[in-house]
Amino acid sequence: PSVLALNTPSPADLWAMDREHALHPWTQFGTFEREGALVISKGEGCWLWDADGRRYFDSVGGLWCTNIGLGRREMALAMADQAERLAFSNTFVDMTNEPSARLAAKLAELTPGDLNRVHFTTGGSTAVDSAARMVGFYQHAMGRPKKQGIVARDHSYHGSTYLSQSIGKRPGDRVEEFRYKTDGIWHLSVPNPYRRPAKMTEAAFCDWLIAEFEALIAKVGADRIGGFIAEPIQASGGVIVPPEGYLKRMWEVCQRHDILFIADEVVTSFGRLGHWFASWDEFGVQPDIICTAKGLTSGYVPMGAVLFSDRIWDVMAEGGARWFSSGYTYAGHPVASAVALKNIEIMEREDLLGNATKVGAYFEARMKELAAMPLVGDVRGKKLMVCVENVADKETKAVLPDEANESKRISNAAEAMGLMVRPMGHLNVMSPPLVITEAQADFVAEVLERAIRQVTDELVREGFKLG
Ligand code: PLP
Repeated sequence: PSVLALNTPSPADLWAMDREHALHPWTQFGTFEREGALVISKGEGCWLWDADGRRYFDSVGGLWCTNIGLGRREMALAMADQAERLAFSNTFVDMTNEPSARLAAKLAELTPGDLNRVHFTTGGSTAVDSAARMVGFYQHAMGRPKKQGIVARDHSYHGSTYLSQSIGKRPGDRVEEFRYKTDGIWHLSVPNPYRRPAKMTEAAFCDWLIAEFEALIAKVGADRIGGFIAEPIQASGGVIVPPEGYLKRMWEVCQRHDILFIADEVVTSFGRLGHWFASWDEFGVQPDIICTAKGLTSGYVPMGAVLFSDRIWDVMAEGGARWFSSGYTYAGHPVASAVALKNIEIMEREDLLGNATKVGAYFEARMKELAAMPLVGDVRGKKLMVCVENVADKETKAVLPDEANESKRISNAAEAMGLMVRPMGHLNVMSPPLVITEAQADFVAEVLERAIRQVTDELVREGFKLG
């Protein structure tokens, strides 16, 4: 019989259907075939329930995205209402739709400076992909056809399309089985103060990073570099907060060489750092282009956007004869746009940016207390974007061997205590919804501390050397 005839599949049925048929992103084949995936069936606020009814506090925030929290009836009604009224209409053939037009105008209101133009996409990867193409289009229209290249940084993550993954360069993502575009893409060093060269001050490290960018421009030629892309805080590459002043100085270098500054704010926008967008409000940088997704709809439906300046528009549109021959069927999707509008309305009405600022500062401080633990080398991040880096030796900052698998074990231990944290290499990463309370921040800190202590004891018993 068809699986759809199973009206009430058991948790075990669901687990088996998934395990036998689904290919999950970034999931090791062997582990998946052995263990399958945890089936999640309900979400409310910051909490998740699995199919067996166990409850977890989701400090991962979905995947940096459930900003207003899950289970909001108002969101479901906005979605249902729009689906009934107009579920789809394309934005290609000289048409638009009401929610998409309203969202475009609302985003122009929220963005810094003259970023008054929007190109809607289906998510973050397609936003980065489209932004990179926009750089080439703009520079070509400026009469600089060679100025097409993109400069990015090591340990960055910009998405999973061919182009966005070639622009990103996270350790572990570059596998032999895939190919990557390499011509016209250059990577600078990761601006990670924790792992800067020994004996170098943070200020000297910053000078060195800026000089590295200048040297690359001198070598390649400013006439070949069209754009520089940066996550204000590198998210999946390890929650890397760059040295003080770094982003602003990189932006100044860009301005001197007519290189467009693309801020990949797929994670840092819509409240994660307490602002609609972090570039200007947190780092004093006015990008030419911002890529956003995730918190734009708080993960209720997929959507992304490229927000760009009037200046870029004017150049691309000059003469009126060109067209931006790139875009997606679901660009400006009416249901996604209605969801984004409701999401923004809720953030404004409940002052969730204010909550992210206030509780975010408390959360950050509580997490930073974990830095005193023997296994913890560094706790970094800002507000609701934090990670804990585990080390074997706090002095040398050496990591544990792979077989220790400590961050996955910490996340497993926390999960058994009702807390989800994301294991990533030697890190455990957190990005809870903006609705988090101080009491919940305490819960995360206390459970994570217990989980780290438990795994540290196990590692010592197993004979791993901890400095
Ligand atoms: N850019 C950044 C900074 C991200 O963190 C991500 C996803 O995590 C992306 C782009 C890709 O977004 P998506 O997965 O929606 O395609």
